[in-house]
Amino acid sequence: MAPLPTTFEPELLELPLFDDAHRALARRIERWCADRHGTLAPPTGADPAAHCRALRTELGHSGWLGHLGLEPGEGTDLRSVCVRRQALAFHEDLADFVYSIQELSASAIIRHGSEEQHRRHLPGLAEGTRAGALAFSEPGAGSDLSAVALTATEDGDGFVLNGSKTWIAQGDIADVLVVLARTGDGPGPLGLTAFLVDGDAGGLKATPIRAIAPRSWAELTFTDCRIGPDAMLGDRGHGYVVALDVLERARVTVAAAALGFARRACAYALERARARRAYSRRLADLQLVKSALAAMDVKIAAASLLTARAAWSADHGGEYGRYAAAAKLHATEAAGEIADAAVQIFGAAGLVADSPLERLYRQVRSLRIYEGPSEVLEMIIADAL
Ligand SMILES: Cc1cc2nc3c(=O)[nH]c(=O)nc-3n(C[C@H](O)[C@H](O)[C@H](O)COP(=O)(O)OP(=O)(O)OC[C@H]3O[C@@H](n4cnc5c(N)ncnc54)[C@H](O)[C@@H]3O)c2cc1C
Repeated sequence: MAPLPTTFEPELLELPLFDDAHRALARRIERWCADRHGTLAPPTGADPAAHCRALRTELGHSGWLGHLGLEPGEGTDLRSVCVRRQALAFHEDLADFVYSIQELSASAIIRHGSEEQHRRHLPGLAEGTRAGALAFSEPGAGSDLSAVALTATEDGDGFVLNGSKTWIAQGDIADVLVVLARTGDGPGPLGLTAFLVDGDAGGLKATPIRAIAPRSWAELTFTDCRIGPDAMLGDRGHGYVVALDVLERARVTVAAAALGFARRACAYALERARARRAYSRRLADLQLVKSALAAMDVKIAAASLLTARAAWSADHGGEYGRYAAAAKLHATEAAGEIADAAVQIFGAAGLVADSPLERLYRQVRSLRIYEGPSEVLEMIIADAL
């Protein structure tokens, strides 16, 4: 395939929703990704956990996690996180995956942790020497986190965890996990507390799960897993608030990643439609193919604007829950539709196992499920009207 066009639409970045710092960041990360294009992806059959470790080291070395440290400097705002995720997702799914999980777990600590927890965990997460994970979901609690059943029982001056978590990104390689547990201070969501648990804690066992697109992903079991009193993240009984805060921010960044995937799928489709001949002309000259390409462009533009609105609003301290839900809903559904339409334009060539487009087709599927399935987002939007 020919070289890809750039990740970002310059005209969109010129809008007053962005600052010069975002434009400079977009240029820097685009150049970094382009220099490594083709080397970030795991080789066929590679161990996803090992590749995630290698990518984390490289992201840390290159400074892309530096904003998560004790002295974060520039680029901590949500628009900057979105710029990084869009570029990484455009170039390599797994690089975006590693960046996003590291960012998610560190921001839970930054936003809800004590100074001591900051000192203990943030430097390693920012340098890429330690991996983070968020362990919220359970076999019986996914969309409805108020049903979390893993128990944290007071024992001496600490707690003992018993139960299981599932679908945990980086769960098999994490050095520190943000765990949502039931302390029973109230019913449903009021009985939950967040904790920081070391990946090597006694009684914690991780079992890798194979995913549709390769990634480090695991089920966790906690059997009499003992944690100290300093492990509590935020106030007791406020775990649900911590989870919703983290998920709301994450939704905006998932929308940005979806944009990266969608722009790449659209670039593949355009290139193929211009090169492939049928009926003595190019596919791109057929009116129905033109219609598919135009639909891609409009969906990407709408997703870009919705994502920028949500991130701008979050950065300016506004109520952005509805905007975050709308951005994630539209951008992830659009990315799925665009990847599917790109495969249609490729015909059989789009279905060759492990080809760039077939991999992308698998990579975008999960976006419509994690950090709030589309139906939950529709509920949030409707309830906020
Ligand atoms: C690749 C990937 C990575 C993940 N990483 C993590 C992680 O790091 N940490 C973590 O804690 N979890 C993680 N998850 C889990 C993810 O958060 C859950 O899959 C998600 O919350 C949905 O929960 P569920 O899968 O149990 O689906 P369920 O809650 O069983 O829902 C199934 C379906 O029911 C429908 N539905 C749900 N609620 C409603 C509603 N209110 N109205 C109408 N329809 C509804 C939706 O179509 C939904 O897809 C990950 C998932 C994936 C796919």
